[in-house]
Amino acid sequence: MKYVDEFRKREEAQGLLRKIREISRREVSIMEICGTHTHSISKYGVREALPPNIRLISGPGCPVCVTSAADVNRLLDFSRSRRDVVIATFGDMMKVPGSSSSLQEEKARGGDIRVVYSPLGALDIAREDTGREVVLFAVGFETTVPTVAATMLAAREEGLKNFSVLSLHKLTPPAMRALMDTGEIDIDGFICPGHVTAIIGAGAYGFLATEYGSPCVVAGFEPIDAIMGIYMLVRQLEEGRKDIEIEYDRVVTWDGNLKAQEVMRSVFEPADSLWRGIGNIPGSGLRIRDEFADMDAEKRFSIPPGEDAEPRGCKCGSVLKGLITPDACPLFAKACTPEFPIGPCMVSSEGTCAAFFKYRRAA
Ligand code: SF4
Repeated sequence: MKYVDEFRKREEAQGLLRKIREISRREVSIMEICGTHTHSISKYGVREALPPNIRLISGPGCPVCVTSAADVNRLLDFSRSRRDVVIATFGDMMKVPGSSSSLQEEKARGGDIRVVYSPLGALDIAREDTGREVVLFAVGFETTVPTVAATMLAAREEGLKNFSVLSLHKLTPPAMRALMDTGEIDIDGFICPGHVTAIIGAGAYGFLATEYGSPCVVAGFEPIDAIMGIYMLVRQLEEGRKDIEIEYDRVVTWDGNLKAQEVMRSVFEPADSLWRGIGNIPGSGLRIRDEFADMDAEKRFSIPPGEDAEPRGCKCGSVLKGLITPDACPLFAKACTPEFPIGPCMVSSEGTCAAFFKYRRAA
């Protein structure tokens, strides 16, 4: 398959790994910020194939995982108190444990909670059942936001009155800044997310190079993409450069998708947001602009904050900050498995604990 097979060739991967070994002298810590990279790196054994002086750290790149416990509990409280409302959500959110249940359990108890595969799925429900309120629990990074915004614009154009959105979106660059500001972890460089950057553009990471002296490479998700991204980053670190480079140039540009950015901006504006494990990060979320207040579930319903309590014993917060690997959590693969997850990092298809469970245990 074009754009897939050519990025999975074993000989090419081995050649790149050889080149990394040849140039790599320093001890370096590289964070991959995206959950899809974490899964690809784990699946293809990239971490184990690198020389021991290169440490890969998984970051807060799974939108479901970084949704705060307070927001998860808030969704659950809302679903319990408004059984008359249809709740639409993406699949990974269903099993995320809150303090006393999950959306999946609330559905079993009678909540009308439906999994949708895109925001348009939620709009379809609203069109079919105009007598009921439909609320989309919108979780996701910059990749998801333009489609949610476009869906809201479509609802406005159609004059639909029963559709609203609870925006729990998160923005990637402010979280990277917050991680650097904590000083809790040494990060020499970043592998940046391909799909997010296709929207925001590689230029959005310029501050990392200029303010923090941290080079970045935007990489794709096939194994050769990831290894090439690491090679480019190691080369920068060895040469003492601090540039923002693009490996995934078949998709990503410096400026990103200007049309998508415009659609996003027309509906949303930056706001502070609470991240699991990291806390409140200024300007890292998106709220719905006043012009779209009629579609803002926060304004349409009263949705008070939920309890901000992590599942007992769960170390997701430390995993998301890259402070520990999942196997350092005492519950990993014992009390916590994908079938019976205790924290979101084991639930989501992009979660670090799920990736470690699926691929590293078998290694
Ligand atoms: S293994 Fe489970 S309990 Fe431990 S950090 Fe991961 S999700 Fe949380």
